[in-house]
Amino acid sequence: MNFVKLEKQAHEIIGRYDEPPAAMLPLLWLVQDELGYVSSEAESWVGRLLGIAVSHVREVVSFYSMFRTKQVGRHELRVCTSLPCLLRGADSVLAELKDRLKLTPGDTTPEGELTLTEVECLCACEIAPMVQLDDQFIGPVDDSSDGVSLDALLQKALSDSSNTSESLEPKTIVSTDGPVLSLRLGNMEGTWCDAYLAEGGYQAAKKVLSSMTPAQVIDEVSRANLRGLGGAGFPAGRKWSFVPKDSPKPKYLVVNADEGEPGTFKDRYILEQDPHALLEGMIIAAYAIGSHKSYVYIRGEYFRPAERFNRAVKEAYAKGWLGRDIQGSGFDLDVVVHHGAGAYICGEETALLTSLEGGKGFPKLKPPFPAISGLFQCPTIVNNVETLACVPFILREGAEQFARIGTERQGGTRLFSVCGHVNRPGLYEAPVGVTLRELIENHGRGVRSGRQLKAVIPGGISAKVLTADEIDVSMDFDSLMAAGTMAGSGGVIVMDDTTCMLEALQAAAKFFAHESCGQCSPCREGTGWVYRIVRRIVAGKGRLQDLDDLLNIASDMEGKTICVFADAAAWPVQSYITKFRSEFEEHIRTGKCVQGREAAICQA
Ligand code: SF4
Repeated sequence: MNFVKLEKQAHEIIGRYDEPPAAMLPLLWLVQDELGYVSSEAESWVGRLLGIAVSHVREVVSFYSMFRTKQVGRHELRVCTSLPCLLRGADSVLAELKDRLKLTPGDTTPEGELTLTEVECLCACEIAPMVQLDDQFIGPVDDSSDGVSLDALLQKALSDSSNTSESLEPKTIVSTDGPVLSLRLGNMEGTWCDAYLAEGGYQAAKKVLSSMTPAQVIDEVSRANLRGLGGAGFPAGRKWSFVPKDSPKPKYLVVNADEGEPGTFKDRYILEQDPHALLEGMIIAAYAIGSHKSYVYIRGEYFRPAERFNRAVKEAYAKGWLGRDIQGSGFDLDVVVHHGAGAYICGEETALLTSLEGGKGFPKLKPPFPAISGLFQCPTIVNNVETLACVPFILREGAEQFARIGTERQGGTRLFSVCGHVNRPGLYEAPVGVTLRELIENHGRGVRSGRQLKAVIPGGISAKVLTADEIDVSMDFDSLMAAGTMAGSGGVIVMDDTTCMLEALQAAAKFFAHESCGQCSPCREGTGWVYRIVRRIVAGKGRLQDLDDLLNIASDMEGKTICVFADAAAWPVQSYITKFRSEFEEHIRTGKCVQGREAAICQA
């Protein structure tokens, strides 16, 4: 292939970045969109344009699951088999698709129409079991009243999707009554600049740029007790205050929109349905830290969220809310939207930065912290989408108003993703002091079909599991830590009494083994060992000694690696075995699932 016709576009892309190698992922997307895959000639072309060895380009291509090195079908059907989808029947969906298409994952139909792929969480757990057909999320794939049948799915997948009459657009349930984050959610078409302005949008940014100092903004956000809502829970104002004011280097605001924690689907809604709230929060945060350039790193699988957010960015430039001299304030801010390529670990902030610089998404040891030396070795603040979307409310309504909604040490509300075995999976805004019981019983309308609750993961798959009698706990960061688990990303995964806890642990172990970046031996080897041992127990070939071996491996992973991914992989092992040991032992003794499943079926 002759790449000359792509060169103009390639140079325009490179020009968006302060360092050319950072254009690596967008250039690889450019060639994949053109060719259908990244050929070795394309790798050489990208390397030449960026002044990088082709071996490095090849390493990068091999790191990200969404880059292909060979031609695939005209359509790709990606089936999620992560825990939230598994709880709602993903194993049956995949088995049926394999049977009807006569394909195993990774294969393509003989005429080249369709490639079937099995993937980890796509963060659309509210429509589980779900699939992604090319760029569209579809689900639930079941026979419920809002479900999509396999017949309808396959009809669309095996035809020219633009010609099918049925859109298969999911019907989703989301809070719409605020008070902070959800007032403009629920509108599938999204809220665009004029409507946002009509509702008082950008007034907080205007007030900040016209009448406040950066120090006053940081003080306001600190007094609001806004915590980082990506999962770490670090106080946002304090984080901003770490950026050195006297550094001669450029400062960057990087938005972490690489949402990937299984059980979580909140940032997707903000990007798609209320993108100007995020942009307004970004303007305020950038002003507070003295940044004039912001990169928004959106996960690769989020095609529509990226398209919607790009539209909002264009609108904001056109209406003078981005670019030079915003609204005559003298403050400049440019925004670059960057598309990831399929790697959960890039949600870790240092991995996100190495990925953004054009490398494999490898986490780095801290210190130095990004606020001192981050993107391109410059002071950088990495904030989650939801965190920044809270900021306009704080500056508009005042820190006290936001702080008052929450608990003593965490202000405001959160968007809780509630999924798994509830009657009404959906995205619900609630004060951070809401209890887990209220989320399940009031918002989720209780455990499905009148079944009994067995277990809940309160903060995404990395959080330690809670039992049915541990759900009267406030969902703020400190209370959940005191309860021996964590608030994490606010992804609540509910499991009823039909759940095989070994199967659940197997799904978690598969995820962590798949997503380890492989830099540290305890993580690279440990996640693989855990997955293989759990899989063997599930298959009816376990030994009682396996349980202590698993706990020992988990202990050897915890706190001994570059990033906390290994800890996150160890916590489910520890909590599932500790809290459900008798179930595990019975499965090992009898060689059978306590839920009555045959071992071979239980084996996902
Ligand atoms: Fe990579 Fe795991 Fe080490 Fe994190 S802990 S750097 S994911 S190998």
